[in-house]
Amino acid sequence: MASPVAIAAQAGKLLREQALRPRLLAVRSQAGHLTSRRWLNLQEYQSKKLMSEHGVRVQRFFVANTATEALEAAKRLNAKEIVLKAQILAGGRGKGVFNSGLKGGVHLTKDPKVVGQLAQQMIGYNLATKQTPKEGVKVNKVMVAEALDIARETYLAILMDRSHNGPVIVGSPQGGVDIEEVAASNPELIFKEQIDIFEGIKDSQAQRMAENLGFLGPLKNQAADQIKKLYHLFLKIDATQVEVNPFGETSEGQVVCFDAKINFDDNAEFRQKDIFAMDDKSENEPIENEAARYDLKYIGLDGNIACFVNGAGLAMATCDIIFLNGGKPANFLDLGGGVKESQVYQAFKLLTSDPKVEAILVNIFGGIVNCAIIANGITKACRELELKVPLVVRLEGTNVQEAQKILRSSGLPIMSAVDLEDAAKKAVASVAKK
Ligand code: GDP
Ligand code: MN
Repeated sequence: MASPVAIAAQAGKLLREQALRPRLLAVRSQAGHLTSRRWLNLQEYQSKKLMSEHGVRVQRFFVANTATEALEAAKRLNAKEIVLKAQILAGGRGKGVFNSGLKGGVHLTKDPKVVGQLAQQMIGYNLATKQTPKEGVKVNKVMVAEALDIARETYLAILMDRSHNGPVIVGSPQGGVDIEEVAASNPELIFKEQIDIFEGIKDSQAQRMAENLGFLGPLKNQAADQIKKLYHLFLKIDATQVEVNPFGETSEGQVVCFDAKINFDDNAEFRQKDIFAMDDKSENEPIENEAARYDLKYIGLDGNIACFVNGAGLAMATCDIIFLNGGKPANFLDLGGGVKESQVYQAFKLLTSDPKVEAILVNIFGGIVNCAIIANGITKACRELELKVPLVVRLEGTNVQEAQKILRSSGLPIMSAVDLEDAAKKAVASVAKK
């Protein structure tokens, strides 16, 4: 039998591997985001505006940027009860906590004065929920809405589903809670309707979903009607997902969308200009916005090797090889296709502005990109920015010989790498030496 120490060591190894796996997956999915040109995010109030414009029932609401505005809004609503909701892009706000000490990102009250007091403890503070980073996300706006009596909460989502090659409506009579938990504990309570995108949503499908969600009597027709309107909205705005949780019924017999989360197809930006103009970038890292100004895509991670790449695939490969060689990426800057020398300069400026960065790895494959342009950009940036950290460069493809010559004759301490493996080894070693 193995000794207790051997078993403990085995367990330790397993634990380390398990700890690393989600990290790798997380990095992979983050790197996956590099493929999208931009990441459109709308706040709940913006999504609800779109919904109400398309006949979907939401509560009356105002948006406030200050506690005074929130108080005014509450008075203007002149409602029996008011619901105050912090606007951040993450879900789980109801159970979230502010760094002001206030508990809950969603509050019900009958007193407008209390709305003002609560808003005071929301706006300008960070709200942490299950879906945010530990430190939370800063709240800049609150939604002040007429509260309604919720008799029942269901779940409804419409999404583009890869496995069905089209839209699918997903619903559960158990809403208001984490849908993943329902799927795990009560999979029989999750219902699906696959929609043929050419035929559109059929009345029978909307009716069946309404019934599966548990809407009875006249509420069933109302729910089916809301589901159809949500589907038409989904198509019209080029959404990839519309999620309403809770999709509820009031004690007065109305079907209402109490929450809203919409994701958009970034490739449809050209025909959804009004929607993309609402893009809320306030939750982006400033460096992401700065990168976007130069048509560069930036993704921050928590290691110490900055990666300058072109393309999402190369970003993921670079990430994996750095990990395999015992290193950790600090970030990714994706150059994309058509490159200008000035972009390379800006890229280096951004990468070196991050104090975590102890080495830079350039991994560019020149297909469309001309390596000589990259090389000129690199040498210019090194000189003008007086680069202080080791720089490893791996270039391959169009005009690579000329590029190598430019780097070699620059007299700069640039480490050339023959391939990606070699580049990763050199970058990891240069950081380890410190
Ligand atoms: P989330 O926690 O970020 O998903 O925020 P939601 O908008 O879903 O609100 C959280 C919870 O607050 C909902 O599940 C409801 O139970 C409750 N809630 C939201 N609006 C109202 C309302 O108008 N009346 C009542 N009674 N409850 C509400
Ligand atoms: Mn919700």
